[in-house]
Amino acid sequence: MSKGSLALLNLIFPDDCRVCGETLQDFARVPVCANCLAEPSPFVAEYFCVSCKTPFVNQAPLDEQGQCALCRLGLKGFDTVYTYGSYEGTLQRLVHLFKYDKMDPLARYFGPLLAKALPRETTFDVIVPMPLHWWKRWQRGFNQAELLANEVGRRWNVPVRNAARRRKNTSAQAGLTNAKRRENVAGAFAVNGRLDGKHVLLVDDVMTTGATASACARALKRAGAARVTLLTLARTDRRMSVELDSLGAHA
Ligand SMILES: [Zn+2]
Ligand SMILES: [Zn+2]
Repeated sequence: MSKGSLALLNLIFPDDCRVCGETLQDFARVPVCANCLAEPSPFVAEYFCVSCKTPFVNQAPLDEQGQCALCRLGLKGFDTVYTYGSYEGTLQRLVHLFKYDKMDPLARYFGPLLAKALPRETTFDVIVPMPLHWWKRWQRGFNQAELLANEVGRRWNVPVRNAARRRKNTSAQAGLTNAKRRENVAGAFAVNGRLDGKHVLLVDDVMTTGATASACARALKRAGAARVTLLTLARTDRRMSVELDSLGAHA
């Protein structure tokens, strides 16, 4: 069904909000009520790494500079992370609608959230969306990270370049331990062209362990990037008192 006829159908049969189930009063581009769209609150953590912003239940895993062990050892690949919210509740539901129910107009709504997460004074040379494997991109019809990257690009007036691509399909990350995830994504990315001396803003929808983003950031640095800042809409919050992963333990 075309977008036009779908919109017409919505006019005749008002939809229910796909997040809370309330009947929609207004006709919108996405079947989500204003309350649900307004709800996602920013990520908050009392103790977090100053670089990767990983939250912890206490200060123990952080050094005097406020960095976690992985950042201290330079193992993250990226230099800084900014995230809007926690991947749960309404925001999680919205991301699911965006990705799996192919509601790409939601990108417009996510734009302001990304803009809130990224400090206004942050400068970078190029925005690179986290690539999808071509097969997945074809199945979905769009790369959600690219739509988000475009939102940031427009606001910051910085070009978006699809510089990174996936060499293999590493979709089966769920259920793997952190160490296995890292193994799974090693060598998964290739970069087209050079990024010498560039500060790259890598954009993705959700950060889970950061293993995928790390692998992609490392590939960007191999292509010459001087600095990689990661910006995601949401991140999972598996708050720990020690950084189990850095000790080689299974998280
Ligand atoms: Zn709702
Ligand atoms: Zn860190």
